Amino acid sequence: MTKPVISIVCPCFNEQEVIHTFTDKITEILGETNFSYELLFVNDGSRDDTLTVLYALAEKDKHIRVLNLSRNFGKEAALTAGLEHAEGDVIIPIDADMQDPPELIHDFIREWQKGYDVVVAKRIDRSSDTLAKKITANLFYKFHNSIADVEIPDNVGDFRLITRRVVQAIQLLPENQRFMKGIFSWVGFKTSVVEYARQPRAAGESSFNGWRLWNFALEGITSFSTAPLRVWLYLGVIFSAIAFILGASIIIKTLVFGVDIPGYASLLTIVLFFGGIQLIGLGVMGEYIGRLYMESKRRPVYILDSDSKTPESDRR
Ligand code: UDP
Ligand code: MG
Repeated sequence: MTKPVISIVCPCFNEQEVIHTFTDKITEILGETNFSYELLFVNDGSRDDTLTVLYALAEKDKHIRVLNLSRNFGKEAALTAGLEHAEGDVIIPIDADMQDPPELIHDFIREWQKGYDVVVAKRIDRSSDTLAKKITANLFYKFHNSIADVEIPDNVGDFRLITRRVVQAIQLLPENQRFMKGIFSWVGFKTSVVEYARQPRAAGESSFNGWRLWNFALEGITSFSTAPLRVWLYLGVIFSAIAFILGASIIIKTLVFGVDIPGYASLLTIVLFFGGIQLIGLGVMGEYIGRLYMESKRRPVYILDSDSKTPESDRR
């Protein structure tokens, strides 16, 4: 029997400052495991020298392979590219910024050898995150899990170990809006959890702030639940019932006490209220229709520019 191979998949976007530290550390850890390994970097259209640094590393170390996407497609797409090209028997997606401690790989391997197909890393200490990020992350997990069909475990990121069977299952999902946290949970399999404290970034900046995180959250919710669409049906029923009761009571009042004109302020409030409610409903619908539209184009998730494994001459 041949020895299993471990594939490390690392999406990189403007990570020139941390690549060396990361590569040294991960090479050290993988050396301790006695498994063969490949280190697959996906350059997601970095605007700094990440690609040059990566190619220089790949020249020196045959374990290193570099996939270069034709532009920035986002972390989810970069991860998808990595999973599709990784050749190992187990695959470990990890961030380049050292926020996912490479030492945890030892725990991953231990759990995998017990027979688990998925080993996730759960952040028990998020003190490296800002208060706002902690609160919004928490709210997101609560909201998502209360309405989505498949729960995503809270405080679990993409850092995990998955076996080839799981990767094959993931590849059966044809959607091109790839919310990986949801996709990982959706495919299931026997899962073990190891805990860790999240480190602050070694260098560089997070690309997920404010608006981008909000869109990421919307993506997660709309990709895995249609509950926000259904809410409007029930809201409609409730408000229609209220309107009916109110209407009836006004008719009865008018018959008994005669016509009474005042009520301009409450009327205006109600008109504005329902105008707002309807716009929100339309907005939610628009959100889904937009996604349907993008999905219906059947565009590829990413475009590959080059692969260090394929010699230059073979590529045209
Ligand atoms: N990343 C990427 N493409 C992007 C944004 C980020 O490949 O468009 C990579 C980034 O290089 C890092 C990982 O995804 O390895 C996580 O990104 P980041 O540290 O910015 O996110 P955070 O840790 O703040 O969630
Ligand atoms: Mg990070």
